[in-house]
Amino acid sequence: MTEKRTALLVVMDGAGDRPIPELGGKTAFQAADTPNFDRLAQTGMNGLMDVIAPGQTPGSDTAHLALFGYDPIDSYPGRGPLEALGAGLDSRPGDVAFRSNFATVDSNLTVIDRRAGRDISPEEGRELQEALDGLQIEDVTVRFVHTVEHRGALVLSGPSLSAEISDVDPHETGKPVLEARPLVPGAEKTARIVNKLVRLSHERLKDLEVNRRRVERGLPPANIILLRGPGKHREVPTLQQRYGIRAAVLAGGALYIGTARYVGMDHIHVEGQTGTIDTNFGNIASKAIETIRQGYNYVFVHIKATDNASHDHNPEQKVLAIERTDAMVGRILDEVADDIVVAVTADHTTPVSVGDHTCDPVPIVLWSDFIRPDSVTAFSEIDAAQGALGHIRGMDVTPLLLGYAGWVPKFGS
Ligand code: ZN
Ligand code: ZN
Repeated sequence: MTEKRTALLVVMDGAGDRPIPELGGKTAFQAADTPNFDRLAQTGMNGLMDVIAPGQTPGSDTAHLALFGYDPIDSYPGRGPLEALGAGLDSRPGDVAFRSNFATVDSNLTVIDRRAGRDISPEEGRELQEALDGLQIEDVTVRFVHTVEHRGALVLSGPSLSAEISDVDPHETGKPVLEARPLVPGAEKTARIVNKLVRLSHERLKDLEVNRRRVERGLPPANIILLRGPGKHREVPTLQQRYGIRAAVLAGGALYIGTARYVGMDHIHVEGQTGTIDTNFGNIASKAIETIRQGYNYVFVHIKATDNASHDHNPEQKVLAIERTDAMVGRILDEVADDIVVAVTADHTTPVSVGDHTCDPVPIVLWSDFIRPDSVTAFSEIDAAQGALGHIRGMDVTPLLLGYAGWVPKFGS
């Protein structure tokens, strides 16, 4: 029996790139000063990875399912249920979950601001949430939580619900809120409930004290909810059931927390961990070390700032986010290198030149103090192509990590 270790998966969201003219034709990984990643690359095994499949541009949710070892095509429940789980709204069989935006409409339900100014404070969010959570429409119960800014998650519970309905968000200002339509026979009831709910949300929100105060301050009132990304509750075998391991997630965004909870990870709260460049990297390192020492067998750490910088076409910020993550990983290695097997990678490429996800493979390094090294000497998309891991898929990452960490039993005798 091999010694068992903790598998540590560090994902920098959207960190893969193409040569960037502003960086002298280097990718962000090549341009960044990353002594710790480079040390892992020199003494570990490197490769390139198609996170979903060759040529398939990943969304972050499906990409993470693959990285956790789940077939994203078979096991994806839609974004709504994952976002809801990440917001702490657990769904049950039969439930349908949505992502929700607070928006601003006029009295004809024409959209003036799809995000109600984006600046809903936690206090305002609580007041708005109270007006919606627990509503009853026909035989359907509404549960709602505000998450950050204009965002929230919503779960419908009741008989005969379907996720196969069209969007109510016109995705443009100056257009009226759309009527949800059934996309398959049997979805008529859900479309009707959603249409009633969206109108009821306007009735309940428009005269709230919180919106009166916002209007007084010249801010757009959060006077309606727009729902999207519907998905029906699903369950998959957890990592605990598949491998007998305890797994934990340290992430700042609801989608990542939710995707990890969906596969059975415990969410470990980190003070100051957010989805921005100002996330508290020091606290994440300390909490990761503590979580590894507490006996978790699989620890997933998510850093979002790299993807934000890429969507914002900001190469300097992307380099900075990579360098801060490198320092964070260095701190973790200083404390627990002997107890872990680690993979450092990205969930997809988001070239700063494009500002959106693309299908280019991402670099990955797999390291522990006993893993056979290859000839790669730096961590980047270009260097990793020469590595011993060759070309793998996202679904290979968790089996590789857990195999080297001693959690996958021998096959055969
Ligand atoms: Zn992503
Ligand atoms: Zn993205």
